[in-house]
This record gives sequence, C-alpha cells and structure tokens, in this order.
Amino acid sequence: MIPITEYAGRDVAVYGLGRTGLSAAKALAAGGARVHAWDDGEAARAKAEAEGVNVSDINKRDWQKFAALVLSPGIPFRFPQPHRLVRMAEMMNVPVVGDMELFARAVQALPEKGRPKIVGITGTNGKSTTTALIGHILKEAGRDVRVGGNIGKGVLDMAALNANAIYVLELSSYQLDLVESLRCDVAVFLNISPDHLDRHGGMDGYVDAKKRIFANQRLRDAAIVGIDDPYSQAIAMGRQRPGGGRVIQISSEFGLARGVSAVDGHLYDSIGGQAIRVGDLAEAEALPGRHNHQNAAAAYAACQALGVAPGRIMAAIRSFPGLPHRMELVGEVEGVRFVNDSKATNAQAAEQALKTWPRVHWIAGGVPKAEGIQPLEPWFDRIAQAYLIGESEASFAKTLSDKASTVKCGTLEAATQAAFDAAKASGEQNPIVLLSPACASFDQFKDFEARGDAFRDIVQRLAAQVTPQKEAV
Ligand code: ADP
Repeated sequence: MIPITEYAGRDVAVYGLGRTGLSAAKALAAGGARVHAWDDGEAARAKAEAEGVNVSDINKRDWQKFAALVLSPGIPFRFPQPHRLVRMAEMMNVPVVGDMELFARAVQALPEKGRPKIVGITGTNGKSTTTALIGHILKEAGRDVRVGGNIGKGVLDMAALNANAIYVLELSSYQLDLVESLRCDVAVFLNISPDHLDRHGGMDGYVDAKKRIFANQRLRDAAIVGIDDPYSQAIAMGRQRPGGGRVIQISSEFGLARGVSAVDGHLYDSIGGQAIRVGDLAEAEALPGRHNHQNAAAAYAACQALGVAPGRIMAAIRSFPGLPHRMELVGEVEGVRFVNDSKATNAQAAEQALKTWPRVHWIAGGVPKAEGIQPLEPWFDRIAQAYLIGESEASFAKTLSDKASTVKCGTLEAATQAAFDAAKASGEQNPIVLLSPACASFDQFKDFEARGDAFRDIVQRLAAQVTPQKEAV
C-alpha cells in the first residue's frame, strides 16, 4: 500500500467504497488521516467495515471539518450532473479528488531525485492491453515495474513508492477527470472515439478529460500519440507546435516519416527520421489484428523512450501472453474455435474483432451504446450468422435485418449452443464462434469479466459433452 500522509491528523470524506474507494480509505488512514468512508450500498459498507475502514454517514457529518472529498471514479463528477455530494463539497469549499490525484501528489512530494518514473496510458480502446504489454516489456528488460490504476491493482494498493521503480498506470477518462497533479514521464494516448459521452457532457468534454494525461509534462517527457483517428490526429498536431514538447506519433494505418508504425504486420521505428524494421508482428500471437498492432507500436515507443533496446522490446512483444477477455481463444471443440472478446463493450472494439476473420459466428448484445452496431455495417458481410442476446436483441436484429442472418437467443448459453451447432454444420474449415458483444454486460452479468467467464464455462461444458470424462465412459 502507498500510505497518504497529506491529510495526517485531518478529516477526510471518502465516497464510493468499490475497489479504489476502499484502497483510498485504507491508504489515508495509514497516513494518519481520520477517514469517514461511505457508500449508499449496504453490502459495500459492510465489506469496508469488515476490512477495518471507519464507515460513517458523511451525509450527516459537519462538512466544514473535511479537508477533502475522495470520490470514486464511478460517481458522476460533472455530468450528466454533479452528484449531490460533489455539490455539497463545492458549496463547503471542500476539494474533490480521486485516488490517482492522491498518488500523484505523493509522488510530487518526493525530491526530484527520489521520484519514480510514471508511464500513463489512455485512449478509448486498447488501454489495458497496452498497459499490460508495457509492463511485460519492462519486466522482461529487468526493470522494477509496477502495473496498476484502472487495471489490476488500484493505484494506492501498490507497494510503497520506490524511486527506482517505473509505475505503469492505465488511466480512464473518469480518473483523468479527477486528476490535477499527475506528471507522466511517458504519456500514451492511443485513440479516441465517442464513448461515455453522458459522463463528459459530450465529445469535447471527453477529449478534454483524456488530454489531461499530458498536463504537467516537461519538455523532455514523451507524449506518444496515435494518429489513426481524426481527434487524436488533431491532438498530435496541436502538441507538435513549437514549444509543445516531445511528441512521438504512432500508427497502424500509415508508414510514418517520423514515429513508430505498424505496416502490413511489420513494426517500423522511424523516430530518428530513418525507418528501421523492428520485427514481424505476426510472431506476436497474443496481439492479432491491426488494433493490437497500434497497441504494440505504442508500447514500443513508450519503452524506447525509457531506454529499452529495440531488439529486447520486440522479443518481449513476441512473448506477451495477452489478457483474458480480449480476443482470447478459450477452446476448440470439434474444430470450432471459440473466441472470448467480452471486453468489447462498444462498436469500435467489436469492429476490431469482426475484421480479424473473414467469416464469424457472432454472439452480440447486452446494454447497447448510443450508436448501437450501426458503425459495424461495413463488416456485416463477414457475419455467417448473428446470435443475439440481452436488452439490445430487438434493436440489433433491426439493424441487421436484410444484411445478415440473425437468431434471437436471449441468453449467452442458448447463443453459444446455437452458434456451435450452426458452425459445425456450416462446412467451414475451423469456424470461429466469437463473443464480441459491442455492449455493456450489466443487464445479464455483473461485469464483462463475469460475462467472459460464463462463456468460457459454457465452452468447457460443450467440450466435456463431446469428449466425455474418462470416469464417465
Ligand atoms: P480498454 O482497456 O481501453 O477497454 P482493452 O485493451 O481492454 O482496452 O481492449 C478492449 C477491447 O478493445 C478489446 O475487445 C479489443 O478487441 C479492442 N481493442 C484493443 N485495442 C484496441 C485499439 N488499439 N483500437 C481499437 N480497439 C482495440
């Protein structure tokens, strides 16, 4: 844990006791603050209490004595409208911060020489993959690396600050909204497309939140920016103006005169103005598809900026094991391959999966995003059949009507069975059954992980039916 001493001897309100709220409450208490932690949910409060956190109803406390309100990133800060307690804090002049801000200030309080390096990663899609990949490369290069933030461990749950360590942090736009002091030695901005717009008051607000990753960067710090979508391109251009700092462009669409590009599956480094072929990304089995090549290019640029040699980076890109729920092959039954891409909660993410294979049996649906699956229309001809589940069943069937064969299946279990049967009967060689829902999961599952785990379990059951266990024979 990273104890937060900034509020020693003072009262701090912590609202929202999920993973990050709990770790913030503990880190503040360990640093000597008087913590008043609250969550509207009884179960979350009980869990916090069981873990030794001082639970107290901050709705009933005197707000004049609070030195800060620590807000969980899940709670609306500005949009669609500030949460009631955010309003209360503002009325009482109580600063509102997030766990990432507490971390950033703890780092800032260290003398420059004792300051660890920080790599921040943001973007609409690919954050977790790129974060894990950078962590993997640095580990393979023998660096002391700590990976956390929006992935794995909450930032304050990480081991005590160490000057020689490199902190690799996945940063969501919600977290960035609550950050003022973070300075990234290396900031990675992968891509941006409309998502979470309700929480940021529209696209401008969303872009502004993401841009905060560059705040506080010094001239020698590295800004690594994807240029494969118009918004990111504008950001890269804006930062490249004279005096704008060090920008390294990355692309998996174009060969760049200066930057890092993945072209036709090969990674090129032209940061110094001359293109050097770094390696063949086809050898990186856990990073299939152009989108993953964008992640690889970004990770390469980040690790290169930290002084890791190109050959070492490429070797580690090859050996990256990948992350669960992102185009993860979870089984092969009677020649049918099952791919779990449950993490694809929006159309842009699902698009990456759809365009990876020429023909797919596609399981989709759940709680749709505003644009639904309309943006996927260019890829509808790759759908052998769509197996629809969840809340979006009717609307997705409507979008697909006349364009792809669809079956309404209701549940993931029924969809997987139907897809398996149809794939087997299709005569295709090694057909793909792909769960890439283009939707959030919470109509039927706790989160995307639970959805992916359920898919894996169903596939395992199908496999067991086909190859009965020895004891059962
Ligand atoms: P995030 O943490 O930003 O949600 P992940 O690495 O977990 O990103 O990937 C989420 C989904 O987005 C996966 O389903 C994957 O197929 C897709 N994806 C991954 N990287 C990219 C990228 N660079 N561009 C577009 N989509 C991507």
